[in-house]
Amino acid sequence: MATPYDELFLFIDGEWIDRRDRETSAVLNPATGGVIGHVPHARQADLERALQAADRGFAVWRRTAAYDRAKVLRRTAELLRERADAIAKQLTLEQGKALHEAQYEVRSSADYFEWFAEEGRRVYGRTVPSRRPQVHQRVHKEPIGPVAAFAPWNFPAITPSRKIAAALAAGCSVIIKPGEECPATALAIARALDDAGLPKGVLNVVFGVPDQISRHLIESPVIRKVSFTGSVPVGRVLAAQAGRALKPITLELGGHAPVLVFADADLDTAAHLLAANKFRGTGQICLSPTRILVQRSVYESFLDKFVAQTQALRIGDGLDPGTQVGPVSNERRIEAIRALVADARACGATVRAGGERIDRPGLFWQPTILADVPAHAKVMHEEPFGPLAIVLPFDSIDDALAEANRLPYGLAAYAFTESARTAMRVSNELEAGMIGINHAQMIVCELPFGGIKDSGHGSEGGAEGIQSYLNTKFISQV
Ligand code: NAD
Repeated sequence: MATPYDELFLFIDGEWIDRRDRETSAVLNPATGGVIGHVPHARQADLERALQAADRGFAVWRRTAAYDRAKVLRRTAELLRERADAIAKQLTLEQGKALHEAQYEVRSSADYFEWFAEEGRRVYGRTVPSRRPQVHQRVHKEPIGPVAAFAPWNFPAITPSRKIAAALAAGCSVIIKPGEECPATALAIARALDDAGLPKGVLNVVFGVPDQISRHLIESPVIRKVSFTGSVPVGRVLAAQAGRALKPITLELGGHAPVLVFADADLDTAAHLLAANKFRGTGQICLSPTRILVQRSVYESFLDKFVAQTQALRIGDGLDPGTQVGPVSNERRIEAIRALVADARACGATVRAGGERIDRPGLFWQPTILADVPAHAKVMHEEPFGPLAIVLPFDSIDDALAEANRLPYGLAAYAFTESARTAMRVSNELEAGMIGINHAQMIVCELPFGGIKDSGHGSEGGAEGIQSYLNTKFISQV
C-alpha cells in the first residue's frame, strides 16, 4: 500500500489552519512525479495574525526561565526521536532522499533541539571590574526578539530545526516559512513542539509565495532578526531587504566545494567517501564536494576508483529498501543539471560517468562525473546543486589552493592526505567556513555550521549558533 501523506496546514497562534478557501500549491513526489498534497498559502491577514502572535508569544517566552524553555525543547527532541520513522517517510515522499538518510536527518534534528536546550541554560553574562568602587558593571544577554526564518527544501528537517531550536533556546519567538516543496516535515517538527507544550504564538509556520512572505515579514516592525538558508541570489535580495529595515540576518547560502586529493592519500578511502558524500541527497547539499582536484601522478587511478564507486550506487525511489541515491527534488534541478552537462560537453569535457536523465517516471538523473572540463565551462563557476562532480588534475599545492579559492563561494572544502604538514597548510589556506580532512561528514549539532565570502555569514550550530539570537546589554549601577 502507498505511504499516506499528511494533511497540510498553516500553524498560527497555536492553531492548525487547513486550506479552506485559501490558494494552494501542489506538493509532488519527485520519485513518481505524482501530486501528493496541496499546501495552503498564507494570506496577508494570516501573516498579520502570525506577526501579532509572534509578538505576544515573545512577551511570554522571554519571561519563561531558560530551565523551563529547555524542558520544552528536550521533550521536542524526545518526540522527534519517537516519531522519526514516520516523519522520515513523509520527508522521503516529498523530498525524495533515501529513507535511511531521511531517518538520520530527523534524528539529527532532534539532536539540535537537545543541544540548544542546554545551550540556552548557558547564556552567561559577565561582571566587569569598574573604575570606581561604588559602580557595578554587568553585561547581560537578552533574546533579540521575534525572528523571521526561511528554510529550503533540501534538508526539510534539519534546516528549520537549527533555526527554530536556537531561536527558542535564546527566548525568541519565530515565524518560519519552510520550503513549499517539503511542508509536511516542517509541520511535523512544529507538531512536536506544540505537543511538547510550547506556548501558543511562540512558533508560527506559514507557506506561500516566498517573495511576498519575506517582504511582508522583514518589513514588519515586529520582526527583529532574519535567518535564511538558500541560494546566493535570494540571499542577496533578503540581505538588502533586511539592510533597509536595519535588521541583522544570518545567511547560509550556496557552495561549490573543492576537494584536494594528494598523491599520498588513501585513494580507496577518498574515492569511497567522495562518491558517498557527493551523491548523498542526490548532490543537493550546499556542502557537496564538487570540484575534485587530484594530484597528477594519481589522477587516472583516483578517477577510475571514483567512477567505479559512483557507478555502484543504487538509484531508485527513496522509500525502496536498498536505495542509496533518490531522485532530484524538482524539475528546476533537472533542467539546471541538463544545461550544465550540455554546456560542459560543448566546451570539450569528457563524461566519465552518467550524464543523462534516467528514462523512468519521476525526476532521476544519473550520478555524473565530468573530466577534462575547461575553465570557461559554466559548471566551473556555477553551483550544480545536483548529482554532478568535476575531477581535475593539479601539479603543485599552490596551484590546487589557487583553484580551490578561485570562486566567490566559501562554504565547505575538503582534503585527503596522509601528511600532517599538508593538512595543516590546506586547513590554514583554504577559504571556507568548514573544512574536512580525510572525511566529509560535517553536519552535527555541536559544531558551528556556516560559510564565508558569498556563501554567507553567521553560524547555525555549536556554541556559536545561539549568539545571533541574542542582544548584548550593558548595565552600570551605583
Ligand atoms: P531558488 O534560488 O529559487 O530558491 C532557494 C530557496 O530560497 C528555496 O527554498 C526558495 O523557496 C527560497 N526562496 C526563494 N525566494 C525567496 C524569498 N524571496 N524569500 C524567502 N525564501 C525564498 O533556488 P532553488 O531552485 O529552490 O534551489 C537551488 C539553489 O538554491 C541552489 O543553487 C543552491 O545554491 C540553493 N540552495 C542552497 C541551500 C543551502 O543549504 N544553502 C539549500 C537549498 C537551496
